[in-house]
Amino acid sequence: MTMLRAESVTLGYARNPVVHDVTLDITEGGVGLIGESGSGKTTLARAFLGLLTPMSGNIWYGDQTLKKSDLRKFRKDVQPVFQAEALDPRMRVGTSIAEALPRAARSRVTELLEQVGLDPDLATRRPHQLSGGQRQRVVIARALAVGPRLLILDEPTSALDVTVQARILDLLASLDTERLLITHNLAVVERLCRTSHVLFAGRVVESGPTGDLLAAPAHPYTLALRDAVPKLGGDPPQAKGRTEAVPAATGCAYRLRCPLAVPECERPPAPRDVQGRQVACHRAEDVLGVT
Ligand code: SF4
Repeated sequence: MTMLRAESVTLGYARNPVVHDVTLDITEGGVGLIGESGSGKTTLARAFLGLLTPMSGNIWYGDQTLKKSDLRKFRKDVQPVFQAEALDPRMRVGTSIAEALPRAARSRVTELLEQVGLDPDLATRRPHQLSGGQRQRVVIARALAVGPRLLILDEPTSALDVTVQARILDLLASLDTERLLITHNLAVVERLCRTSHVLFAGRVVESGPTGDLLAAPAHPYTLALRDAVPKLGGDPPQAKGRTEAVPAATGCAYRLRCPLAVPECERPPAPRDVQGRQVACHRAEDVLGVT
């Protein structure tokens, strides 16, 4: 079932587009948006949260566009989980969670702390008195407070050390709530997302079942990300050679970094169906041949 849909969405800031004509669905089973810094994944997440209005195209929530839907219900159903630094340092943990709850449900703070694996006694502490992993659990508890259908998680574990990351991922995997996960780390989507979309320079270059993308990438950029998979807690993969994208009008945006580029790549590749996934690459079959 589709919960959110971006339809031909172009997004940007001060009239400069950074996401170009993207169409994708947020479906059940977890969805990953994968790409390096500047790929447009966080901008797309902001649009899915209703924080950024598309320059063109629409975000659909069920059968209504976000512009027309009941925004109060939408904000209850779709909750962001950012990095733990977003917690107010002056506020006690219990107050911070209670603030997100309806007045009649404030006694649920204990239940929510237990749900995310924290000792309820931590409710009286301030964020700086907690470890990084505990703070991230508090952020998740806050997001769960209103009973959302979908969590939008932006690099929820990247600031944590490896063992703590693994425990937070276990927690997220155990929740009933659906998730859209934004990350540079393929090791994370593998655990939490049935479907993934790989973004490069504001365009979706490959979409499909996460297992297929990891087992046999069909786009050279997905292949480069997969082969640079950091261990949980590692740094984002570093690009080799030139790092700038090429404007689409002059061809494939990945052309200057692509080891498989040929003269045909001076023509922008349109997304097409290749072995059960959508790929924007003239040489997807060749990439599959080497994976
Ligand atoms: S279209 Fe060409 S340049 Fe772009 S990713 Fe495919 S092979 Fe590389």
